[in-house]
Amino acid sequence: MSLPSLSRVRKTLGFRLTLWYFGFFILSVVVLLGAAYVLLSTSLQHHDRQAAQLKLQEYVGAYQQGGIEAVERKVAFEKEHIGKILFFVRLASADHKTLSASIPHKWASFDVAQLEGRNAGDPSQWITLPVKDDEEVLEIISFRFPDGTLLQVGLNTDPREDVLERFRDTLAVILVPLLVMGVGGGAFLAFRALRPVRDLTALLRSIITTGKLEARAPGTGTGDELEELSFLFNNMLDRIGALITGMRHALDNVAHDLRTPMTRLRGMAEMALRADAQREVLRDALANCIEEADRIVAMVNTLMDISEAETGAMKLELQPVNVHALIERTVELYRDVAEDKAITLSTFAPEELSITADCARMQQVLVNLLDNAIKYTPPGGRVEIVAALHTQQVVITVADTGIGITPEDLPKIWERLYRSDTSRSQRGMGLGLSLVKAIVQAHQGTVEVSSTPGAGSRFLLALPLCSPAAR
Ligand code: ADP
Repeated sequence: MSLPSLSRVRKTLGFRLTLWYFGFFILSVVVLLGAAYVLLSTSLQHHDRQAAQLKLQEYVGAYQQGGIEAVERKVAFEKEHIGKILFFVRLASADHKTLSASIPHKWASFDVAQLEGRNAGDPSQWITLPVKDDEEVLEIISFRFPDGTLLQVGLNTDPREDVLERFRDTLAVILVPLLVMGVGGGAFLAFRALRPVRDLTALLRSIITTGKLEARAPGTGTGDELEELSFLFNNMLDRIGALITGMRHALDNVAHDLRTPMTRLRGMAEMALRADAQREVLRDALANCIEEADRIVAMVNTLMDISEAETGAMKLELQPVNVHALIERTVELYRDVAEDKAITLSTFAPEELSITADCARMQQVLVNLLDNAIKYTPPGGRVEIVAALHTQQVVITVADTGIGITPEDLPKIWERLYRSDTSRSQRGMGLGLSLVKAIVQAHQGTVEVSSTPGAGSRFLLALPLCSPAAR
């Protein structure tokens, strides 16, 4: 493998996961096998020392019954019946001189004189001494009789060391396959675990290169975090797709809706430029141009307001707003218009109800709804604004007895620049309800509509109640 690709592999998550797994695997294996080794070693030592202590008690009994001769007789008896003596046995006087010593045949070279210069100190403590060339060790336990005589029994640690050495050899042999298993297992697990991430990366790459948003990440069916990631990723793609379609649609509409007033503007200016135009005609044309330009500016401003509210960029001056006063202020603006159209305008709102809202923006919402209600209600009809408290929400209803909205139009009326065929004869830009929805949602509220064609419409705003503390 070339150097750049090797360093790329080293940077991958799979490589790091493999290393981590390998590290933990080897660490746990070493800790477990080390613990097994220590346990085996201490258990063998405990077993040996128990045997030596038992033997010591036997010799103590023999000495107490018949002195040095009894001890020597016992050693001779064991030698005769077992064929060899297994334990080192020594009797020494109070001044450490060896009175009698039996040394197992295997360590014939052991120099008992080593023990003569050595004060046994606390006789119950174990003494360790090298037997030959420091390779084998003798462990000795002592007992001092009341007459000062010292009895020592020792055993060689060599058989125990043999067992431990074989255990160490076995460990060395199994360590190699364990290392291979560690690396192999780590690489396999990392490869399996990262498959959904690889799929997601491939999907992203294909979206970036082809620009097609239709592709989706396959479900793993495991129900784990990576499946959730794929699910959320697909959801995000759905949303981006919907937003792009919405934006394209809105852009088409804006382009279409701007073309008409711009063409009108141009036509008016062109007519005015005709050489024989009178001063009065010129003034009228300029006034019309200004009116048309104002319409265009209003449309662009509203579109920008909707975008700001939808993206959360709209600055809202939130404060407690009394619903009763808000409704009365809005209705006051439309009293004359309603009267001119012979429309009965009625309101009902408990005085104590308050919401946390941007007062000006909330009034804009009510103005749009009331304007529509009056606009789409024939003379002699009724428009009613009612506010009520409903499970910690203030619900404001704007209902009219107007032309109503067809079921086909109902889901579309919230779209930017949408105007139903029945409303074409009325003034308007088709942006009012889009703005209403965007502002209400920016206030964490909801807006719904129900309508019966020919009977009227009812718009329902639900806004969070202002808490007494905030008030
Ligand atoms: P417009 O400027 O056309 O009124 P809106 O966004 O306010 O734009 O409304 C979108 C469409 O919803 C209107 O064109 C109309 O068809 C329908 N609409 C809104 N309010 C009412 C209502 N109270 N009664 C009947 N139709 C309505």
